[in-house]
Amino acid sequence: MTTTTQTIVDPPTLSGFTTHYGIPVAGIGEDGDLAALGRHDPRRAFAAFRRFVRREWGWDLAAEMRGPRSLDERVRHELWVVTDRCGECGDDPDCSYCSDIRTCPWWLREATPADRTAFYVTTWT
Ligand SMILES: [Zn+2]
Repeated sequence: MTTTTQTIVDPPTLSGFTTHYGIPVAGIGEDGDLAALGRHDPRRAFAAFRRFVRREWGWDLAAEMRGPRSLDERVRHELWVVTDRCGECGDDPDCSYCSDIRTCPWWLREATPADRTAFYVTTWT
């Protein structure tokens, strides 16, 4: 049995992220999920997410902390890569999902062990 060691690089600088308490943050998707570039302590990440949400979306993320999920359940560390492929079409050159992705400034997906450009992202979901 062989073990693949994940290569992890520093996160890239991506447009659309704004820095709060030294942490680059952006909203991702359409459900209020958040991403911070790099691996951050959950409490520090929450402070940055909360400030981002207050300034960008005008509400207080702390209200969501009254639910059943703890901070450690909501803040996760994941390995992602920047991609221009959907990963679902087998590299079909006519894939409309891939075409849509290429119109975005960046697109992120979860890294696989084979990826050589994986970087840590701290997420809020
Ligand atoms: Zn595709």
